[in-house]
Amino acid sequence: MENKKELRGWLDAFGLDHPLVIAGPCSAETEEQVLKIAHQLKNTDTSVLRAGIWKPRTRPGNFEGVGALGLKWLQKAKEETGLLTTTEVANANHVDLALKHDVDILWIGARTTVSPFIVQEIADAVKGTDKIILVKNPVNPDLALWLGAVERFYEAGITKLGVIHRGFSTYEKTRYRNNPEWQIPIDLQNSFPDLPLILDPSHIAGRRDIIFELCQTALDLNYDGLMVETHFDPDNAWSDAKQQITPATLEKMTVDLKIRKVEGDEAEFNNQLNTMRTQIDLIDDQIMDMLGKRMKIVDNIGALKKKNNVAILQVKRWNEVLGRMILEGEHNKLSEEFVLKIYKAIHQESINHQKKVINE
Ligand code: PEP
Ligand code: MN
Repeated sequence: MENKKELRGWLDAFGLDHPLVIAGPCSAETEEQVLKIAHQLKNTDTSVLRAGIWKPRTRPGNFEGVGALGLKWLQKAKEETGLLTTTEVANANHVDLALKHDVDILWIGARTTVSPFIVQEIADAVKGTDKIILVKNPVNPDLALWLGAVERFYEAGITKLGVIHRGFSTYEKTRYRNNPEWQIPIDLQNSFPDLPLILDPSHIAGRRDIIFELCQTALDLNYDGLMVETHFDPDNAWSDAKQQITPATLEKMTVDLKIRKVEGDEAEFNNQLNTMRTQIDLIDDQIMDMLGKRMKIVDNIGALKKKNNVAILQVKRWNEVLGRMILEGEHNKLSEEFVLKIYKAIHQESINHQKKVINE
């Protein structure tokens, strides 16, 4: 697949002067719930109502969705509010039912994108339709797998395509439910600038309090839209309760978010500058995070040295580290002088840390 302007045609057709907003509950629960949320989202920046009908659960025993019955509620919500609708499809039968109920946009869930067989089955099922397909990133951080899924739809003749960034799972528990790994969508955006890129802050965050900052980062990176889980009573939602926000909170967020998308030469310059600065900020965050992690291990070594009565400074080891990093630096086009400066500073901080541990 090549980057083509036509990929974003469906998005441009919305004629919006702000990023596309898709909102609605994690799961459709009852007819009243779907309709109430849809009405609360009507006349806001939201253009598309989302609701999961079939829920892929990591472990059995959780709410697995109301099933096809919920599609009628989505249809009714569309009739009453004029919002377009979207739901997740995970097999050909889901596609068939969603098409019968006139769902406008189908999204492919993160647990489906990992499986080329299922993606192909779904691509075959939507062949010949003019549906919009949004492909969530796979649960594992693999750009080729993500793109591969998009390509299966493209090859099936679907040109109304987009991707949803919902973060990547990690074994290590972090601040996020799913690590954003911003570099992956940034790389994708560089290769396919016209493939609409939508952020799902809800599944990245897994909690409410950082949804706003995730959305702001995405807008600074020039994302085309947001998909936010929204419920009138988030705490009592049947799935993903911790991460849902109310339609009113979403509305306030869309007002407070700074949208940097503007036209004109100077604006274009500022836009590009901002995007690149945001990329640098994200890398700087990672550098600090890695340095922090490095120092934690250094502290543990300090404790071990203390227990075994070994001196802090071990010249042979230090020279090995330095030699290895100078070579690494060369691969990354960093001068020896620069690498030496950085590593001397890191080494000094490590010694300070170990002194502290040893004297405790
Ligand atoms: C969802 O959007 O509710 C969902 C299940 O998402 P994901 O596939 O990203 O986990
Ligand atoms: Mn969810």
